[in-house]
Amino acid sequence: MGLFDKKYCDICGSKIGLLGNKKLEDGNMCKDCQRLLSPWFSDRRHSTVEEIKNQLAYREANKAKVTAFTPSQVYGNQTKLIVDEAKGQFLVTRSGNWPAENPDVLDLSALTGYEAAVKVNQTEEKTKNAEGKMVSYDPPQYTYEYTFRTRLLVNNPFFDDMAFEPFRSVKEKSVVVNGRPAAVHQAEYKEIKAAFDEMRAALDGCCACLSYEEPKEEEALAVTIPASAFAAAPAAAGGLTSFAFPSLPRTVSELLTLPGVSLHDPFSVAAMAVAAFCRFSEDRDACFAMIDALKGPQPLSNVDKSFIKDRFMDGKGYIPRSYFEGAVPENDYTPNRPYTIRVTESAHSRDQFDQGYITLYLKSGGADSERPVTLRHKPSTDEWFLWNHTGILAGIRTPKSADPWA
Ligand SMILES: [Zn+2]
Repeated sequence: MGLFDKKYCDICGSKIGLLGNKKLEDGNMCKDCQRLLSPWFSDRRHSTVEEIKNQLAYREANKAKVTAFTPSQVYGNQTKLIVDEAKGQFLVTRSGNWPAENPDVLDLSALTGYEAAVKVNQTEEKTKNAEGKMVSYDPPQYTYEYTFRTRLLVNNPFFDDMAFEPFRSVKEKSVVVNGRPAAVHQAEYKEIKAAFDEMRAALDGCCACLSYEEPKEEEALAVTIPASAFAAAPAAAGGLTSFAFPSLPRTVSELLTLPGVSLHDPFSVAAMAVAAFCRFSEDRDACFAMIDALKGPQPLSNVDKSFIKDRFMDGKGYIPRSYFEGAVPENDYTPNRPYTIRVTESAHSRDQFDQGYITLYLKSGGADSERPVTLRHKPSTDEWFLWNHTGILAGIRTPKSADPWA
């Protein structure tokens, strides 16, 4: 079989274009067939032709349920949870014209639990000083962006959960209280929070709440490192601080053989983590396998995985790309080649070095504050592993092409 041999879709039989092939466990599928699958389904590579055919039959039967569905309650102003109380059914959709999109209609009795969270992402606002340098305000000013998230756990043969953001995020600026910046909620936040609580109460009537989280802005304040801390940062002891990758890794072996990297060097493990996360939007299983390789003794849990999926929802796969040089909102986070990334050490990076931890920092082209990543040392092999990666996934500015206000 040559590289350019024509492939045929094992579902519908049509010819598959050069880049249109979607690999299945035991065959191939075309883009048109993929489009008919449930938007909540993600395990395509491990599905057989038979399983995909079963799902397409289920999806076809779903159309009649969509036609019969009569909304009686709507929760959310972005991705909506819509309930038909008389039939005891619900669907989740982002579309304004959802009857045309064939959203999965589920019985409320299929809900086995839910998780909800209000998350905050904080960025520092800067101003230009007399020399034209960007500096902190005194006292510092922050913008807090709140996102409202829900994850429904469901009994369904083709997917286990539905994670979505029912409300648009809300941005607020810090106000100064007792000489320091503080978060004080305004009307828009209060209104959306009340609607979110109403949705949670409705879900409580159907299934158990497995976790609920609200932001603690005080903690968020504590983890933001002002840029001034980096000016005085010591040069990294040993190890490179800048990495240039000719291409991004697709597999664990490509990841581990990137030029200049080694698990003995925590700086390179941080850079490798960013490169591995870039894989998510194309192949999440390959991405998770690479992250697991970097996490060593403590691989990703299911909770970690759903957090990552949640972070990259709504096409936010550009977040990891933003750490490479040249990637900015204006060019839709398109990095320069080779893919160059700088990993920095701050004055506090080694505060827990004696206990085997180092916290390094990465600069995103879409955020003002540096993002932390913590690595943990394994003395028996003298290797460093990814310990806390959530800073890498924090929200950044919307790329221009996706910004309706651009
Ligand atoms: Zn097909």
